[in-house]
Amino acid sequence: LAGGVAANPKSVADRANQKDKADRATHEQVLDARTRLVLSALVNRGYFSVIEHCISTGKEANVYLAFPGDNVPPEPSPYPPTIAVKIYRTSILNFRSRKSYIEGEHRFRGGYTSAKNPRKMVRLWAEKELRNLRRLVQGGVRAPVVIEQRENVLVMEFLGQGSTASPRLKDAEISNSKLPRLYGELLVAMRRMFHHCHLVHADLSEYNILYHAGHVYIIDVSQSVEHDHPSAFDFLRSDIRNVEDFFQRRSGGEVRTLGIRRTWSF
Ligand code: ADP
Ligand code: MN
Repeated sequence: LAGGVAANPKSVADRANQKDKADRATHEQVLDARTRLVLSALVNRGYFSVIEHCISTGKEANVYLAFPGDNVPPEPSPYPPTIAVKIYRTSILNFRSRKSYIEGEHRFRGGYTSAKNPRKMVRLWAEKELRNLRRLVQGGVRAPVVIEQRENVLVMEFLGQGSTASPRLKDAEISNSKLPRLYGELLVAMRRMFHHCHLVHADLSEYNILYHAGHVYIIDVSQSVEHDHPSAFDFLRSDIRNVEDFFQRRSGGEVRTLGIRRTWSF
């Protein structure tokens, strides 16, 4: 029977079509076959042992909590007791809107724009997030320590307590008396990000800031741009505005934000 099917070109095409459909269905669930291979390679290298549970399912990525294996890698030392694994979706749909971020990025010139292959493109985003997170940590900005990236999978330090993730600033319960200090901390972080790391977050808001161990941590930097990106100042302005709006709203006007015009000279 198998021979008969193979000998009939139409059936072969039908089967290929069915396979295509099945592939698309798994793409939508993030964990396609190739991603599973990447995960098992990471497990074999000892980066983590089991994926414990899903922390977040987003439009572009899912984030999972994982525990280290028995043979943990030497770096970073000490190896974090809990790991966050961010898996980018390989479906192309959500990535089109990101073109404007990457255009004008000299780090990716010729790389991204010629990447027609969605898998390649997603890998570039993951790589970009790895490099940007490293730059943040090196520049003295609080952000998760990145451990490894392969294809569409990023392994980093888990920000949380036990297996509970630290809340996003949006969901964090913070007493009013602490808000001015946190606002100040974020201004310093944004300024450092610009002047020391030469980056603009470009999607900064209470959704991409975690309140962890009494401090604010910056996450989700795959779309961040170089300070000389043609739209860098527009992105910076909107980042600052988001942060100021959040603190104004949350404190009922108690926090004296600098105001967008004055932070402008930042
Ligand atoms: P996206 O917004 O593209 O889905 P994020 O990087 O913002 O991806 O991650 C989604 C959510 O996962 C975050 O809002 C946060 O709650 C959680 N998260 C991400 N990274 C970590 C981390 N290192 N430690 C703990 N939680 C994390
Ligand atoms: Mn996010």
